[in-house]
Amino acid sequence: MNARVAGRHFLQIPGPTNVPERVLHAIAEPTIDHRGPGFGELGRAVLSGLGRVFRTSGPVVIYPASGTGAWEAALVNTLSPGDAVLMVRTGWFATLWHEMATRLGLAPMLLETDWRRGADPAAIADALRQDRAHRIRAVCVVHNETSTGCVSPIAAVRAALDAEQHPALLLVDTISSLGSIDYQHEAWGVDVTIAGSQKGLMLPPGLSFNAISPRALAAAQTARLPRSYWDWRPMLESNATGYFPFTPAINLLRGLQEALAMLAEEGLDNVFDRHTRHATATRAAVRAWGLEIQCLEPRDYSGSLTAVRLPEGHSADALRALILRRFDMSLGGGLGMLKDRVFRIGHLGDFNDLSLIGALGGVAMGLRLAGVPHGEDGMAAALAVLAEG
Ligand SMILES: *Cc1c(COP(=O)(O)O)cnc(C)c1O
Repeated sequence: MNARVAGRHFLQIPGPTNVPERVLHAIAEPTIDHRGPGFGELGRAVLSGLGRVFRTSGPVVIYPASGTGAWEAALVNTLSPGDAVLMVRTGWFATLWHEMATRLGLAPMLLETDWRRGADPAAIADALRQDRAHRIRAVCVVHNETSTGCVSPIAAVRAALDAEQHPALLLVDTISSLGSIDYQHEAWGVDVTIAGSQKGLMLPPGLSFNAISPRALAAAQTARLPRSYWDWRPMLESNATGYFPFTPAINLLRGLQEALAMLAEEGLDNVFDRHTRHATATRAAVRAWGLEIQCLEPRDYSGSLTAVRLPEGHSADALRALILRRFDMSLGGGLGMLKDRVFRIGHLGDFNDLSLIGALGGVAMGLRLAGVPHGEDGMAAALAVLAEG
């Protein structure tokens, strides 16, 4: 048997994130009858509360699934076999979504990037301009690319579609940005927004979401990809009264109700400002350590995580393993072509100044113990940002 490790584990991966005790307690309440008279009230409360977080007056559907399920739901409800879709490979999550689209029988066109910036609206506009026959039925963009810590400018992507007068739907993955980085489903003209429970929403994994525009709803009437479990239509019919067509994740929905209350109590704009501030302090530390931030475009810096490159010849995975062993902190690893090249500090969810100091302190000690050459002033740089206000 291993010796007991004292103190709380530091879960500083960019999802799943730390679940606040208020949410854990709500989830631990007895399971209730999802067809009973009391359930509809919970259903209606979370469905309308979600609208305020997605910033939409339209429907949001909830699946008992990880975010990957909601990716699939967005595609199968709006598209038909062989449809062209335009995707941007901003990193590993965009790559996985592209693979899914291919497996589902879609014909994705992929715009490449160097994994160090968000999607380029001008490149999207070029691709749409060349598509005179309007074969492209959807543009799919990851808002916050969790593998790189780069954000794509969704309002500018919408503007590119409008400027080209292109009718494609806009599908956006906000799995690691909803509830941590400003996002506006309706104002930005997004047709389907995809999200998950275990990142900014401070819940355990197990729920995922689609926010649906009127145009996406209309597309769902004629889309021909096979769908059954993911079909929006029976879901929306039941949701009208706060119920679900199959057994929902009842206890997670109670947790969601609590998490939505917490976001409302803090105020969404304050939540976003808090994340921005922690991201700024983290980058100040990384710069003072003399390490490189994976995201090269300041405009695209993520509020929810920072991916940090290690100097040539140093293993990010060895550093993470050392930090886990010595300080009981989990950091995110490099994904895809960034494997072993970067580590990722998650600074999203239920997180405050002192949690950030703890996380950065663990990184600082890890760098020292792993023999990674670095400057000494990282912690001081972060403290200065936090102490400023
Ligand atoms: C976490 C994540 C996913 C995958 O979600 P799962 O819940 O693991 O299925 C997809 N996209 C982004 C941007 C993510 O951060």
